[in-house]
Amino acid sequence: FNVPVAKNEPVLTYAPGTPERKELQAKIAELRSTEVELPMIIGGNEVYTDRKERMFPPHEIEHTLGYYNQGVASHVEMAIDAALEAKEKWANLSWQHRASIFLKAADLLAGPYRAKINAATMLGQSKNAFQSEIDAACELADFFRFGVQEMTNIYKIQPESARGMWNYSEYRPLEGFIYALTPFNFTSIAGNLPAAPALMGNVVVWKPSKTAIYSAGVIMEVFKEAGLPDGVINLVFASGPVAADVVLTHTDFAGIHFTGSTGVFQSIWKKIGDNIYKYKTYPRIVGETGGKDFIFADNTADKRGLAIAMLRGAFEYQGQKCSAASRVYIPESIWPEVKEIFGKELATVKMGPPEDFTNFVNAVIDEASFDKLKGFIDRAREDEDAEVIFGGNCDKSVGYFIEPTVIEAKKPDYETMQEELFGPVLTIYVYEDEKMDETLDILDGTSIYALTGAVFSQDRYNIEKITKRLEHAAGNFYINDKPTGAVVGQQPFGGARGSGTDDKAGAIFNFLRWTAIRTIKETF
Ligand code: GLU
Repeated sequence: FNVPVAKNEPVLTYAPGTPERKELQAKIAELRSTEVELPMIIGGNEVYTDRKERMFPPHEIEHTLGYYNQGVASHVEMAIDAALEAKEKWANLSWQHRASIFLKAADLLAGPYRAKINAATMLGQSKNAFQSEIDAACELADFFRFGVQEMTNIYKIQPESARGMWNYSEYRPLEGFIYALTPFNFTSIAGNLPAAPALMGNVVVWKPSKTAIYSAGVIMEVFKEAGLPDGVINLVFASGPVAADVVLTHTDFAGIHFTGSTGVFQSIWKKIGDNIYKYKTYPRIVGETGGKDFIFADNTADKRGLAIAMLRGAFEYQGQKCSAASRVYIPESIWPEVKEIFGKELATVKMGPPEDFTNFVNAVIDEASFDKLKGFIDRAREDEDAEVIFGGNCDKSVGYFIEPTVIEAKKPDYETMQEELFGPVLTIYVYEDEKMDETLDILDGTSIYALTGAVFSQDRYNIEKITKRLEHAAGNFYINDKPTGAVVGQQPFGGARGSGTDDKAGAIFNFLRWTAIRTIKETF
């Protein structure tokens, strides 16, 4: 039978005076005033250890949100064992039952858990209310609902039968367990990476980022309440290298679902290569990695639209989206006017803790990120090839605050035009109008990444030309819009080159990676 047609969860505004705002504020107050202790969840059991790690908001480092229990290699082994033990029962449940669990989880996120998942994301990952809402509540619910739809679309793909025979495809889980290694920047991605393989009947070991433990704990609560059987998804808190040594050398390792840095993904891929003879089956390697996402404008671009796209694309969630605009190519004829509009808009942007809903920009995730970003800004101040034209202040006395910063690069290969910074730092390169083609070549050759990009132009010929010329420069390409904010079911998300395996999160292409297809021919 058919499942309901998936619809995107409507995004709430949290405008002053709305009931959702009051509820969210009350939940924030509750989480702020209660110190939690988060166990690992292995085979459905809460696992506590001697090593308690403190959780705190990146924007208020002195405040303690609670503690989590750090695991070691033996906990990762336990998690694999628990997954393998749960495997047979889970794989043999009907897909309808699996689907109902994830549809319930989506309704829990959109309903009774909405305030909690948003509050945990706001406090734990320093994300403002609106950014949390589109991520933790809406996108995660969308991932589950569209996932169910895509799963059934896959099951409908069947070969032709011919005279005297039945031919059919059977979609089975992979043989082994899946490792989900998830990032801090999207609670939705953290929840989807273990959920997508599980929905397809697989069992999972899930290691979240150590800077997004709070929201991961809430997601596990949601899974439990939705009825996910014990052992299907096992949450472990261990260091990346420790977990990798256990997981990637295990005979039953059947795949990795990853979002994170390019360097980590490449080292995982290499380790998988080194251990390839150990595995029962070739593991599926699915990853979304870094980005150096661009906006390219020609001299017909709508100046206001461009300025707003730069501002939102670069600074929403402090630029910590893989999709964030981080380099802009702009013709000299329009730059002065765009700069003026941009400057005026930027002056209205407030920075501070997300508990104050008027703050658009909050803190960056941790000290390492703060120090790295500050380093780039300090170097740009000294370097004659660059100029800091907006912002630049960095202060970690209370939290890891980096002011939205714009660098103007005098050379198109200046370091901040090439390297992924993952923070609120945008670099602009102003080109001579007549050098548009040359600049497109430079853009395409400047970074190793190809995640997102945008073109701003009102000239249809240029739009076509640029879109074609940059066909491999971005997996998600936007025409007259910012390069962030892909919506599940609307803009399947993912990139190639150094940005990932382009399996498009939440779309059918991704779910195809989590199934082992058996073709059966039966004669009669
Ligand atoms: N899907 C998100 C967007 O389009 C980005 C995801 C990421 O940062 O990994 O903005």
